[in-house]
Amino acid sequence: MTTTIETADAVVVGSRCSGCAASIALARAGRKVVALDRATFPSDTLSTHLLFAGGVSEIRALGALERVEAAGAPRAPAAFMAAKELEVTAGYTRTSEGIDYGMSVRRPALDMALVETAREAGAEIREKTKVTDLVWEGDRVVGVKAKAYDGEPYEIHAPLVVGADGRKSLVARLVGVEEPYRQNPNKRACVFAYWEDARPEWRPIMAQWREGEELGTAFPCDGGLVLVLLMPPIEDGPEYRADPEAAYLRGVDKIPALRERLRGCTLASKVRISTDHAAYFRRSSGKGWALPGDAGHFKDPVTAQGIRDALRYGRRLGERAAPHLDDRAALDRALRAWEHERETECIEIYQWTNLLARAEALNPVEEELYREMATGHGLAKPMLDVFSRIKQPHEALPAHLATRMALRAIARPGRRAEAAKIAVRELKLDVAARAERRAVRRAG
Ligand SMILES: Cc1cc2nc3c(=O)[nH]c(=O)nc-3n(C[C@H](O)[C@H](O)[C@H](O)COP(=O)(O)OP(=O)(O)OC[C@H]3O[C@@H](n4cnc5c(N)ncnc54)[C@H](O)[C@@H]3O)c2cc1C
Repeated sequence: MTTTIETADAVVVGSRCSGCAASIALARAGRKVVALDRATFPSDTLSTHLLFAGGVSEIRALGALERVEAAGAPRAPAAFMAAKELEVTAGYTRTSEGIDYGMSVRRPALDMALVETAREAGAEIREKTKVTDLVWEGDRVVGVKAKAYDGEPYEIHAPLVVGADGRKSLVARLVGVEEPYRQNPNKRACVFAYWEDARPEWRPIMAQWREGEELGTAFPCDGGLVLVLLMPPIEDGPEYRADPEAAYLRGVDKIPALRERLRGCTLASKVRISTDHAAYFRRSSGKGWALPGDAGHFKDPVTAQGIRDALRYGRRLGERAAPHLDDRAALDRALRAWEHERETECIEIYQWTNLLARAEALNPVEEELYREMATGHGLAKPMLDVFSRIKQPHEALPAHLATRMALRAIARPGRRAEAAKIAVRELKLDVAARAERRAVRRAG
């Protein structure tokens, strides 16, 4: 039997955030793009979906914002954080795309809006189609083998294969880069469910509370719902798995302010759990292939950056690759440059996320940071700018300010010895992180 062989300029494996973003950019540049996904759309995937203003900006940059907003999620111009008695509220700095609000749109609607935008741009999105293997020409990837659920196997040959196929990426495995070169184990689980939201005054606010080691969030979203995510220490995972709903409701009760936020609200969905989400960077480009989105790089959900980065670096990949698809050497150079751009831009937020992902109770130095933000001395907005990716963490919290927080923590009676120990630990981590960032910059 002869195998049918199709040709395209680019074939994309996976068509959610990063796959659609790459497809949109390639199609807009006039390239023939085929994106294959084993899923059908609209459909859900294991992910919460908070977007800070930087994430909403990426949706606008793709031309998908109108469709996404049609889902009906409220705009959230304010972010709220609380720990102990300290409460911080901040508004957004307007992004370069003119966005000054966050949003939380459930994945079926969000991903469907992206798929429709990609189709409108001219990309072909094939659902219910599984990619099973790559096609090689020597050491170069030149296509994929695919099979529709109800069809015969076939091949698509293309100068560029984009692996936008998520954390368990088949493409990463087949090109031999599955093992990350940089990784960090997750210390918190994610346990979440949707509630009918009975608190209109909270609808424009994305909120997070810390209580001891517990961390809970409430993100108002489409459908009149609020997504309530708990991030308990990973050791509590088995308890949550044993009886998800009972453990989840107990988890909510451990955070009284969250419990109060949910007054009058009713649990409206199953409880979903993720305990396996280590952070990493994988090698993400090579001869004829690239890995945007989670396939190449993942951060703990605690800072909610994944969708934003999948969209941004999917788009950037398409923009960088599109002019070079007829010249293999130039294409490989463009892919390497794209990978370096992503790593350089993401390394610091990755390091920062790893710090926030430690399942520890608020330490005395963090407490000073909260105190400074809560007293309205102008630190809250720059810190929110970090989550919106307008500022890098070291710009929002420069060394002199971090040192002042540490010294204040040490000077405060009660937890002096602990504060001094934490300050030394954080200083050592900061020195190592700066060295790692320098090495990443130099590697370009
Ligand atoms: C618990 C959890 C909570 C999160 N919360 C947030 C949050 O609040 N905010 C945020 O910004 N990010 C969050 N993230 C991260 C976010 O989900 C991801 O960064 C984002 O979905 C990555 O998009 P992607 O397109 O790269 O991959 P995915 O969304 O994983 O899409 C991959 C696609 O590839 C398809 N596919 C895979 N293999 C094949 C194959 N062989 N053939 C055909 N198709 C294939 C799949 O069907 C899927 O549709 C969270 C993640 C987790 C795990």
